[in-house]
This record gives sequence, C-alpha cells and structure tokens, in this order.
Amino acid sequence: MLARLFRLHGLLVASHPWEVIIGTLTVTVCLMSMNSLAASSQMCSWNDCPKVEEKSHSSDIIILTITRCIAIVYIYFQFKSLRQLGSKYILGIAGLFTVFSSFVFSTVVIHFFGKELTGLNEALPFFLLLIDLSKACALAKFALSSNSQEEVRENISQGMAILGPTFTLDALVECLVIGIGTMSGVPQLEIMCCFGCMSVLANYFVFMTFFPACVSLVLELSRESREGRPIWQLSHFARVLAEEEDNKPNPVTQRVKIIMSLGLALVHAHTRLAAERSGQNRTEEGRMEKRLDSGGTVWPMQLSSMDLEQVITLALALLLAVKYVFFEQPETESSLSLMSPIISSPPPQKPKAAEDCCRREFPAPKPQKTTNNTAATNPPSSTAVSDSKLSTEADTAFTEKAASAENSPCVSLFGESPAPCFPVSSSNPEPRSQEECMTILSDPQRGARFLSNAEVMNLVASRNILNYKLEAVLETPERGVAIRREMLSSKLPAASALTYLPYKDYDYSKVMGTCCENVIGYMPVPVGVAGPLLLDEKQFHIPMATTEGCLVASTNRGCRALSLSGGCTSSILADSMTRGPVVRLPSACRAAEVKVWLETPDGFSTIKEAFEQTSRFARLEKLFVGLAGRNLYIRFQSQTGDAMGMNMLSKGSEQALHRIKQLYPDMEVLAVSGNYCTDKKSAAINWILGRGKSAVCEATIPAQVVREVLKSSTAALVELNINKNLVGSAMAGSIGGFNAHAANIVAAIYIACGQDPAQTVGSSNCITQMESAGPDGEDLYISCTMPSIELGTVGGGTNLPPQQACLQMLGVQGTSPHAPGENARQLARVVCGTVLAGELSLMAALAAGHLVKSHMTHNRSKTNLPQTPA
Ligand code: NAP
Repeated sequence: MLARLFRLHGLLVASHPWEVIIGTLTVTVCLMSMNSLAASSQMCSWNDCPKVEEKSHSSDIIILTITRCIAIVYIYFQFKSLRQLGSKYILGIAGLFTVFSSFVFSTVVIHFFGKELTGLNEALPFFLLLIDLSKACALAKFALSSNSQEEVRENISQGMAILGPTFTLDALVECLVIGIGTMSGVPQLEIMCCFGCMSVLANYFVFMTFFPACVSLVLELSRESREGRPIWQLSHFARVLAEEEDNKPNPVTQRVKIIMSLGLALVHAHTRLAAERSGQNRTEEGRMEKRLDSGGTVWPMQLSSMDLEQVITLALALLLAVKYVFFEQPETESSLSLMSPIISSPPPQKPKAAEDCCRREFPAPKPQKTTNNTAATNPPSSTAVSDSKLSTEADTAFTEKAASAENSPCVSLFGESPAPCFPVSSSNPEPRSQEECMTILSDPQRGARFLSNAEVMNLVASRNILNYKLEAVLETPERGVAIRREMLSSKLPAASALTYLPYKDYDYSKVMGTCCENVIGYMPVPVGVAGPLLLDEKQFHIPMATTEGCLVASTNRGCRALSLSGGCTSSILADSMTRGPVVRLPSACRAAEVKVWLETPDGFSTIKEAFEQTSRFARLEKLFVGLAGRNLYIRFQSQTGDAMGMNMLSKGSEQALHRIKQLYPDMEVLAVSGNYCTDKKSAAINWILGRGKSAVCEATIPAQVVREVLKSSTAALVELNINKNLVGSAMAGSIGGFNAHAANIVAAIYIACGQDPAQTVGSSNCITQMESAGPDGEDLYISCTMPSIELGTVGGGTNLPPQQACLQMLGVQGTSPHAPGENARQLARVVCGTVLAGELSLMAALAAGHLVKSHMTHNRSKTNLPQTPA
C-alpha cells in the first residue's frame, strides 16, 4: 500500500518534471522573499537560538577543522562506494546534485525561518555528514536503466516505490535524533542541530520532488541528441531491480526505527511544551538581540580572507578529488555500464586452482607480510568491481601463501575486508545448505561472490536462482556465463564440447536483455576487409565477416576493377520499413468496410497520428491493405531514421491497431505480424513493393579492365548474365534472386556490422544486369538493383562494440549527425556497391572457368587436396 503510494508519487513527479521544477523553484523564491514572516511570527523555539559568536577560540577552530576534514573524507568514501553502483561520474554527479540542491533549499528554509546564516559556515561539515548519496544515486540508476522516456518514468516510480518508504523513515529518525540536540541548552549545538534538522527535511523534500523531476527531464532532453540506445543507459532494469530488491532494508531494523521514532516524538513533544511555558520572556529578549546582531553580518568578508583552517580543508578536498579522478582504478573510468569494469579489463589467464575458489567467508586473519601482496592492501570498497583483477592478484598471492597457511582451510587475502577468500587445499569444501546460501546471496554486504560455483549451481537446480538470470544475479555476468557453461557441459555428449567456444573478456552488459539470452559464450568469426570501394567518389573499406574462403578476395578484385573504372554510383529509391499485422472482422463485407476506411485520407491520418506517437523517428508513409475473406492484412510502411526499424514498426502498428479497434470494436487482432510484412521469408511483396532501403548501383568497366583485372570479356559476361542470372533464375521460379551471389556479400557485411543476419533473406533480393557499352561495345555496363535492403546503424546488434567498430570503418556508426536516416541509407549504398563488386568478380570467374580452381586453392584445407601438377 505504502509502496503503491510512493510509486504513484514517483510517476507523477517523473511525468511532470517541468511543473515540479518550476513549482519547487517558485516556492523557494517565495520563501526567500517572505523572510519577514519569521520576524512576525514564532515558527518554533529554535528562533531563540543565539547567534554564533564571530570570534572563535583556537580550540573551536581545531575542532571545526577536524570536523570539516572528517566530512570531506566521508564524502570521498561515499563517492568511492558509488563505484559499486556503476559509473564513477554519472551517478556521482547525480549525488552531488542532491547535495547542492539540498543545501540551497536548506538555506532557503533557514532564511524563511529568519535564522542566522552566520552559523552556516560552522554547521556545513555536519550537513555533509548527514548526506547519504547512495539513495539519490540508486534512484538515478533506476532512471538510467531505461530505454525510452516512458521507461524512465516507470523506472523512477519503481525506484520511488522501493526507496521512498525507507528514505522517509530514515529522514524521520534522523530528524528526531538530531532534534534532541536542539533541547541541549548549549547554544552552538542548538544552532547546528536546527540546521541539521532543516537540512534533513530539505534533503528529503529534494529527493522526493526536485531530484526525480530533474533526472526525468535531463534524460528526456539528453535522448534527443543520442543515438539508438541512449549513451547514459547503464544496464537493464531487471538487473537494477534485482539489485535493489536484494538490498531491501532489513524489516527488523525498519521496525526498530519506527519504534524509536515514536519514542523520540514523545520526548520532543514533552520538552517543547515545557520549554514553551517557561521560556516566553527569554524568547522576546533573545529575538531583539538577534535582530540587532544580524544587521552586521560578516559572511562575505569571511569568505574573502582564507584562514589556515580553510587552507587545510581546501587542500584535503583537492587532494582527494585528484586521487579520485586520476588514481582510482582508471580502468573503470570509461565505463557507463554497471558491469563493464570487470569486462573491460581483460584479466590474465588464471591458474585452475583459482577458478575453483570456494568464495567462502571465514574469519579474516591479520594481513600477512608478503613481498607481492597488492591484493592484500586493497581496500574493501574495491569489492566485486575488480573481482577478476583481485582474483588474479590473489592467485599470485595465494600460491605464495598456500605453503605458509597449511593449517587454515582458507586464506583471506583482503585483511579485514569482506572479500572472497580462496582455498588452500585444492579440494572444494562441502557446499553449504541452500538456506545458508540464500541468506548469503540476499545479504548486500556479501552477495553471490561469497558462494562457490557448486553452491550457485545448487541454487539454480533448486530454482532459487533462475538459470536465465545468472548473469544478473551473480557479481559479474562473466561468472554467470561460466556457471551456465559448467552446468550445460555435463549434459552434452562430450563434456569438453565447449572448450573452444570462448566466453571470457566479453562485455556481456551490452548483450543482456538486448541481443541474446542464456549466453554460453560468443562466436569469433574472421573478419576480412575488401576495398577500397570507390562509391559515389568516396572510398570505403568494407568489413566482411565470413568463413567462406575466396569471398573477400573475390569482392576485393571487384572493388579493384571498379576503382580502375572510375568507381560506381548509387541512388536510394525508397526508404521505409514495413510491418503487416493480420486482423479479423465478423464478415468479409465488414472487413471490406474497414479496408475502404483505411484507404481514405481521413482513415490514414487517424492511423498515422496514433502510429507516430510511439517514436521520434517513425513516420508512417503508406498503408497497403490486402483482404482475404474476413481477414485484413494491413502493411504499415514507415521511415525509421537510422534504425532498421522492426521493433519500431511493431510498436507503432500495435498502437495503430489499438486506435482502429476503438473505431471498429468488432475487429479482432490475430497477430501483429501476419507475414504480410514480410520479414525474413522470401516474398514477392518485398521484391515488388520494396522494404527497408531500395537502392540501385551502376558502373561502366572499360574493356581493358574487364580483360586485365577480371580476366574475361564483355561479351562473355553479358551472355552469362542473361543465361544464368535472368533465364536461369526464371527457370528456377526465383523471387528476387536474379543475381550471382548477392546474399554472400549481404550476409558477410551484416554479420560484421551487427545487422540481423536473418534479414539476409529479403535484403539480398537483387537483379544484376549487364550490357555492352562504349563506342565499340567492348566496355561493360553493370547495375545491381536491390529493392529491400533491411538494415540500420542504431539498435539491435549495432550496439555491440566490435560491430560498432566495423560500422565506424564505414563512417556510419550510430545516428547520422546531418539528418536521421542518412547513416542507414549510406550503409545501404555501400551494401549495394559491394554487391556490385562481388557480382562482377564472381561472374568473371565463372565466365573464365576459374571458380572451381580458386575455391580449391582458397576455400579448401590444403591438407585434403591431392598434389596436382601445375
Ligand atoms: P530498436 O533499438 O528497437 O529501436 C531504435 C531505438 O533507437 C529507438 O528507441 C529510437 O528512438 C532510437 N533512436 C535513436 N536515434 C535514432 C535514429 N537516428 N534513428 C532511429 N532510431 C533512433 O531498433 P529497431 O531497428 O526498431 O529494431 C531492431 C531490432 O529488432 C533488432 O534487434 C532486430 O534483431 C529486432 N527485430 C525485431 C523484430 C520484431 O518483430 N520485433 C523482427 C526482426 C528483428 P524512438 O524510441 O524514439 O523510436
């Protein structure tokens, strides 16, 4: 119930960020301008607090300096612990923003109550000590794990539902505890405690309203300029949720807090009533005095002259900032991912013993003196973030220590830190009970890294951990993958089957929830380069991922022929992706009625409006409606910016169907895809109407190049093209297959560039035409027309770093800086141009009878070839 309330609140704030921000700022400004209220009315007995004396004793200064330094060190450690949440900077900035805004709001509240700001300088360190950045960062983390603005709102509300109740209780308890200080009778302490209480309240107010609204707004604005999956996206919501669920506060602690706050509230009520009765006169006098004093505030002057104490504080702050920025685990810096620090730093090979580490928790022995114990000196905050690094260091230390620690079952290498420890004996200890393992797993201080692989596997077998969630539940995705492989290996015909399927040093955070499930590794495919391809007067080096020998070499030869001929030119004929749902009406006549309506300008604009609500890039261009009996097939045709667009189209179509159903309630949606799209299946509709990008590319090859580079003649090539690509394909009843091997080039580029490889089916629709050209008919004119190239430069596999590298080779990675869709269209031109190069080369090889020979040379294991005389 409470969680629901907070969820609704979160949703409201995240959905109306402008209103909340402007409302909060307006209240702030009003409070600032209404300072007279404090003078006119007694808001609370804190107004009686005397002004802090401007001249402090030297002992005061020392205490103050120490407190400030403690506060700075505390903040430094807070930042360090943020690394456990993920990004070093993004979340840090989110935290800092809360500090700053809380500070501003606190001062405003103090101003409103007419309090002295002279005490602020002294109270500041205490204010810093009250701050817990982790809550704000956790909320930011929820928001950052979203794909779309709707998700941002959803995730903020979800975060609020989880964090809100705890935060409220914490704020209440803090306020009541600090509030005790306001009754102490010690004037300075009273001022600081007043300030502390107000800070806690302001911090709470900011966290509940201003902060989530700002996060929501900033993410919304930043999305406008980002490509594909937004750059700020850290990881997947499920993972964040799982983590937060794991970190849920202990219910016992929560209950103690509630009981404590009730008690404290009673104490406060009693003291205030007593104070009110006895202190009436003192209040009046105190207020008069205070007003006189406040006339001559010296705050700005204090700031201008730096004392020794301020120099010390500043130096410490700078020192820690430099240490944090430059010396704290630089490998994590570039990471925006929750998981990437482990993945991005390739760990050296580990000895087998370390892989079998028991990861159990034992009383930590005193740090031992070793010559090479970097790991031993690592602070606890390194934790799982650098687990693989630690393991490696630990391995070295482990072997050194093993001999000297024979009597202990396990040696902790991390001093007093709750870090994994490694077995001295090579035999694994007995797995602990499932209950014990679950307690460890759900303990935020320990977690999965304190479980051995055998224990994790037991939990998977008992479905306490779901197999498909291993990556998310374990401390690193790589360990999740390793355990899944281990479990799978025992069920395979050969236990060693996966030995050569690599899984290490891969950034699984980019894969999880996006590209692949139940991951057991990754498939390395050789990537070759063909080119340069001279296309539209620009040179391109084409990445091709393939295991077919000759393919890259042959394409390369085609590129060379084209370059020597002045290159090829291309044109984009159409650009729109399609999705064709199937719906059913009660009768064929009713279906015809809906068809007619959809084809009217009014019907189209109604559908267009609904469709385009779902994306910033999808722009509905056409509806192509087919009818079969009482079934309607509605082919939505839309531009999709730089994305290939299938998800985008599905989303838009669903929304449009929803709109149609409102107007025709008797319509039944059978499926959002009725194969009328048509995706990943050979279909005449794509060949005739086009799908994705429709491109054409042409070139004229001089006779000399045909002879010397292609080792053929124009006449032979034209003849072969007619009989193979046109007549031959017609004889075979081909749809869109009027080419020699367009699919070869399309598949190789698609795999290299993170496209959906199954879309090679439609994308390789191509008709290759050849004619003799030139004054004497000796030159060769060639064109390739490809009506349905389905590809994108954002979304899907294009988010993976190696695939992005290949897109970068072509200068088309991500969102186009000029106009949405330019990058994707450029990639389609490159595909079409490379297909043309491939066609030239293969056709020439066939015409010259070289195909079999070159395949025997380049595409067959030489060990299997009998020695033939040259
Ligand atoms: P997507 O990643 O689902 O959507 C593209 C995302 O990028 C959208 O959120 C879009 O914003 C955003 N974006 C940012 N800059 C953009 C730009 N310049 N141009 C276009 N979008 C931009 O990608 P998709 O292409 O729609 O879908 C590709 C995925 O669909 C692949 O993983 C593929 O394997 C899979 N697929 C799905 C189906 C299916 O039936 N659903 C079929 C085949 C393949 P907005 O949110 O504003 O649109």
